[in-house]
Amino acid sequence: MVADQLRPRGILDERLLAAMEDIPRHLFVPARLAPRSYEDCPLQIGEGQTISQPYIVAEMTQALRLSGTEKVLEIGTGSGYQTAILCRLAGEVVTVERIASLLEKARKVLMEPYTENVRFRIGDGTMGVPEEAPFHRIIVTAASPKVPTPLFEQLAEDGIMVIPVGERWEQDLLRVRKEKGRMRKEVLGGCRFVPLIGQFGFHE
Ligand code: SAM
Repeated sequence: MVADQLRPRGILDERLLAAMEDIPRHLFVPARLAPRSYEDCPLQIGEGQTISQPYIVAEMTQALRLSGTEKVLEIGTGSGYQTAILCRLAGEVVTVERIASLLEKARKVLMEPYTENVRFRIGDGTMGVPEEAPFHRIIVTAASPKVPTPLFEQLAEDGIMVIPVGERWEQDLLRVRKEKGRMRKEVLGGCRFVPLIGQFGFHE
């Protein structure tokens, strides 16, 4: 996966590549899909949701520019695979999922080696987690019609947010920075995520 799918497409952050080499992606998918877990595509994880394609996980994580000390907010725990990578590369992680059954599965898989620096939340992640703010980094792994205002408010000064923004089934992957309180956006490429459902996202 690392040699065939990530390095040739410009993922060059060695800490990230080592984490993706180490973390057993097959544990984060339903058992019947384990043989396909390193393929170059997203896979169904139940409840109509997906574990993202390995390259997308890598691209989003690389775009966060993590040094190892940051407090990160992740919206859309899903399988917990992205969470495991964030736990390796950042100081602490708060992850939010709106579907309880997915959060519980992710919590179980992450239980062993990764739990010391992760806190799990159930609920509408478009509201962020104000009592834990500010966050140095925010990653949203579902598609939003716009950058949710509470998330931008909870981003620290000079912080970075990576988020897919656009239509329900087709979006631009954005890197958003907070500079002197203002929003600066950069388009990293096109993408297709499941919708972010919530007060500041899409409606069900
Ligand atoms: N990063 C995940 C992984 O590696 O498995 C993929 C996440 S999946 C593409 C998007 C997730 O966002 C789904 O699990 C979905 O239930 C969740 N989601 C959608 N809207 C949400 C919201 N408002 N708050 C929290 N989670 C949300």
